Amino acid sequence: MSRYDPDCIFCKIAAGHIPATVVYRNDHVMAFRDLNPAAPTHVLIIPLEHIASLSHLSAEDEQIAGQILLAARTVAGKTGVLDSGYRLVFNNGPDALQSVGHIHAHLIGGRTMAWPPFAGHEILHG
Ligand code: AMP
Ligand code: ZN
Repeated sequence: MSRYDPDCIFCKIAAGHIPATVVYRNDHVMAFRDLNPAAPTHVLIIPLEHIASLSHLSAEDEQIAGQILLAARTVAGKTGVLDSGYRLVFNNGPDALQSVGHIHAHLIGGRTMAWPPFAGHEILHG
């Protein structure tokens, strides 16, 4: 693997150093159950290589970016939410409450949701 951050928890999961409930894996990405599920189905899809956030993607990551989206469809099928519906969420940066600095898509489903996705107090800026 060309990009590995020894301090990154998702790199450790990708390398098999920390256990996870794996739903899907191929040569580019893997998907595993979120430790604190926000819905009956809550799976994280990550690139095997360390990329800190969507904002760190470059043109050479085109294949990895596509693989994440394609994996979402596969995971939706495997977890039984392909027809009922699901949401794919990338939290990116502080305002979005990204807490793990390794790109991950949250695939959430198994219940009806709300829109827009804001909760709690408002801090507007920008
Ligand atoms: P975010 O806030 O978008 O960065 O999401 C990080 C997600 O990673 C949270 O939903 C956590 O519950 C989840 N998480 C953190 N550590 C683990 C772990 N070891 N295994 C599975 N999910 C994890
Ligand atoms: Zn990482």
